[in-house]
Amino acid sequence: MVSKKGEALLPKVNARTGRTRLIAANWKMNLNHLEAIQVVQKLHFKLRASDYEYCEISIHPPFVDLRSLQLLIDSDRMNFSLGAQNCYFEAKGAFTGEVSAQMLAKLGVRNVIVGHSERRSIFKEDDELIAKKVKAVFDSQMIPILCVGETADERGNGQSAEVLSRQVSAAIRSVSPDVLGNLVVAYEPVWAIGSGTPASVQDASEGGDIIRGVIESIKSKEVSQAVRILYGGSVTSANSREFLESSSLDGLLVGGASLDPDDFAALIEA
Ligand code: PEP
Repeated sequence: MVSKKGEALLPKVNARTGRTRLIAANWKMNLNHLEAIQVVQKLHFKLRASDYEYCEISIHPPFVDLRSLQLLIDSDRMNFSLGAQNCYFEAKGAFTGEVSAQMLAKLGVRNVIVGHSERRSIFKEDDELIAKKVKAVFDSQMIPILCVGETADERGNGQSAEVLSRQVSAAIRSVSPDVLGNLVVAYEPVWAIGSGTPASVQDASEGGDIIRGVIESIKSKEVSQAVRILYGGSVTSANSREFLESSSLDGLLVGGASLDPDDFAALIEA
């Protein structure tokens, strides 16, 4: 969507935080390229100019949908950011089945999810690999959305802060402070993802504050204040507003509720 003067609508800076908000849709392994086109068209139809001014809206489809959505977004001058769910850190070569950050950048991808808990648990991605992916995304002039979060057991053992600290510090240690302020971190407690039981706003905000504190202790206050922190885990249109009102959080990473354009539009408008 464009303004009356034909300019792209950019999200306004949140006066309370000095940062812009971001709502990212993680479609996971859902929606083929034809379904993806329909969903994005419907979402575009439902949203109003004020929604795009409120926040950046980033769509993260499966890789095979990216080219179709790139063409749709460009040709209809839609205001969505194109996103990916993963990438590999090497630029090219004998890595069967992988997609490099550079390839995504060529498709106009802006934001890349890295280290989602499903990648960590199902595909055994560790902190070292995730750190390489974060660097590769930055090196290709895109923005990593680094996912971190504790499991139910870790939470039960009182290890939440320790886990967040380990995951964040491992991922950012080798990133230059010049670009690190562009990082997005999604606090996604593993027990809240897809469970229907979101974290409380207080817990999500505390998680956000811990993450910002870790970045400040490793880099600087200035960098930590620039980084955007999202909450993810069972967000719906019924609870999105509470999270967005927290000054510790800059937006949301949404899984299930982003697949249906009616639900996702309602979640953004709430
Ligand atoms: C996710 O997988 O990143 C996520 C937040 O999923 P859901 O919203 O379905 O809990």
